[in-house]
This record gives sequence, structure tokens and C-alpha cells, in this order.
Amino acid sequence: MTQCFEMGLVNPASQHRSGRQARRVLEECREKILGLLGANSRAPRQDRLVFTSGGTESNNLAIHGLLAAHDVIASGEAGQSRGNVVISAIEHPSVLEPAERLPSCGYELRHLPVSPGGHVLLDALEPTIDADTRLVCVMYANNELGTIQPIREIANYCDARSIPLHCDAVQVAGKLPIDFHELGVSTLTFSAHKFHGPRGIGGLLVRHGVQLRPFLLGGSQQLGTRPGTENVASAVGMAKALELMLNEGSTEARGESSWAEQIVSLRDLLETTILANSNAQVIGVSPRMPHATNLAFPGIDRQALVMALDLAGVECSTGSACSSGSSEPSHVVVATGADPTLIRGSIRLSLDANLTSDDILLAAERILDVVRGMTPGK
Ligand code: PLP
Repeated sequence: MTQCFEMGLVNPASQHRSGRQARRVLEECREKILGLLGANSRAPRQDRLVFTSGGTESNNLAIHGLLAAHDVIASGEAGQSRGNVVISAIEHPSVLEPAERLPSCGYELRHLPVSPGGHVLLDALEPTIDADTRLVCVMYANNELGTIQPIREIANYCDARSIPLHCDAVQVAGKLPIDFHELGVSTLTFSAHKFHGPRGIGGLLVRHGVQLRPFLLGGSQQLGTRPGTENVASAVGMAKALELMLNEGSTEARGESSWAEQIVSLRDLLETTILANSNAQVIGVSPRMPHATNLAFPGIDRQALVMALDLAGVECSTGSACSSGSSEPSHVVVATGADPTLIRGSIRLSLDANLTSDDILLAAERILDVVRGMTPGK
């Protein structure tokens, strides 16, 4: 990234020499990312990568772009029925909120329920998805529980009915290998800051042959799908971060255990230490992402707990980071059907690959101390 800044690689749409150089660097990043995420970068069945400002923009682009490709939303006549859109009950707000606007454009919005353990119920596909379904959105892994969703099965179901499926893979990309081609989804969102890349850049993979109308208008960059000057330095940082995470996380690079195995053992240590010494419960069952845990402390108020833990040097959140200032209970934990006392006391922690077991034990000790201090009668 520093090299990019030093070389003055500013505008890849410019026709002069440094513009062309910037374009070359950008296209190399695009090709590298397509390859690392298992997409096809070669004609004639070429998948596309649209650079965006991050996961939120990619999700909005996918929802509007996939629907508008079939049906120009903006010209929808009031009262006209346009079919239905199906999303899982545990989507990130950047899917949930654009989807909640769709009924005003004539779409019926339906939700796929999840099990108490936090996975989309495959039995619900048939009663929810029908011949009028225009789009299905299911995330790859949930950001609050870490639960990995049965995307391949859902993709097969949608593919057999020619229904586009959008997958928000922000929590998975860079942490576990993704084979976009094999997965069978129409579009897939990722975001660089979730794999130690720069903030403010992400992407949307678009499967070969899938039509996507632009959401933003006003330029011909990225074939008009996402107008606006591309951020070359951030694209370089994103491609490098993805490469490092995927390659250095492998068993080959790390010796006997991969990044995922190492971080699972740290997460298990955190959970077992806390569960053995308190009445906490873990919300969300396997398959789960290695780095995430959602711990519910009955009888404790989650907002007060997050603040007390911050003072004790343990940083965690309630709900999604984007809405964690709100006092509303998490729609994700609510969707699992958890008991209200668990919902009230649920916090989420994410682990980093550079932590040690000493860090984990120290964090567990601090969490237990804070929880004891907040427990009535203790
Ligand atoms: N989707 C999921 C599952 C996320 O966890 C996040 C961010 O935490 C986003 C989307 C939004 O990504 P960004 O912050 O890059 O806009």
C-alpha cells in the first residue's frame, strides 16, 4: 500500500501512463482475489469481482442489483405485486434493513427461521420459497453466533429453481477457504477489515451469467456496475491480506495445526473456563466459525456488562457492532428462541489469531470477576 501511495497510483481510469499503471495493479489484485476465493477469472465463464467500500455496500448492491436486473424497482407502480424475497432471520443489518424496504416496492418479505442452535432450518425452504420468489439471501456464517449456515444445500435448492441466492460471507472470507464456484451462490460479499486488511474496502463476487444492475449511477468504472474511482492502494492491501491469511493460516505454514484449529482450542479454553465457573451458557452450536463465541449470563444486563468489561480491559459487543449502541435485544439471539434472561445477558466475543492461552485465561478471569461483581447477592 505504501508503494502505491509513493508511486502516486491515483486514478486507474486515467489514460496517461500512471493511470494505466494503476489500472494494471488494480486488475492484478482483482485476478488474485478471484483466484483466492475460488472464482473463475478466465473467459469464457468468467466470474466478476466488483470492488466496493465494504460489506455493507456489497450487500446493498447485491439485493438491489439482483432484483433490479429482473424488475426495475424504481419504476414499480404502487400496489403492484412483484413476488417475494426470502432472507434468513439472522442476517446482518446490511441485508436486513435493505430487505425491510422491499415491501414498499411491491415485494413480500419472508424469513427463514433458525434452530435454537442458530442454523437455518432446511425444512423451512419448501414452505417459504415458491415460484414467486425473486431472491434468497442467507449469510455464510453469522456475525453474532459464528454459526456456519448450510449454504451449499440452500444453493442447490435455489439453483434447481433458477432463483438467485446472495450470500454474505463477511465472517468467513479470509478465515476459512471459500470455493465460490463450488458453493453455487449467485453473489458473495466479503470485507477486507475482517481479515486484517484495510477498512473501507470489500467486494462482491458475481457468478458468470448473473445479471446485476448498478445501484450507484454516474460513472463507467467497473463496467458501470459500481461507478466511482477505485481505491488502488486499499485493493492492494485487501489482496495481500487475503493471501497472507489464507496461506499463513494453513496447516502447512503453521506446523501441525491450522489457524482454525489453533483458534478453536483458544475459544474452547475461554468457553470451558467461563462455563465451569459461572452459570453462563453458550448460544450457537457447531458448525461454528473458530473465532466467535456468544456467551449469555442469566440475570446480568448485557449493556452494563459490556461497559464494565471495557473498564476491565476486555473488549466485546452486544448484537452487531454496527448497532451495538442500541438497547434493543439482538434479533439474532431472539431468532434462536433463547430464554429472555439469556437474551438480556448475551454478549459476543471475537478472538484474534495472535492471542495466547495466557491471554485467554486472563480474559476469562476478568470476565468472571466482573460477572461476580454484578451478580445480585454476591
Ligand atoms: N455482514 C456481516 C456478516 C458483518 O459481520 C459485517 C460487519 O461486521 C458486515 C456485513 C458489514 O461489513 P462492513 O463493515 O465492511 O460494511
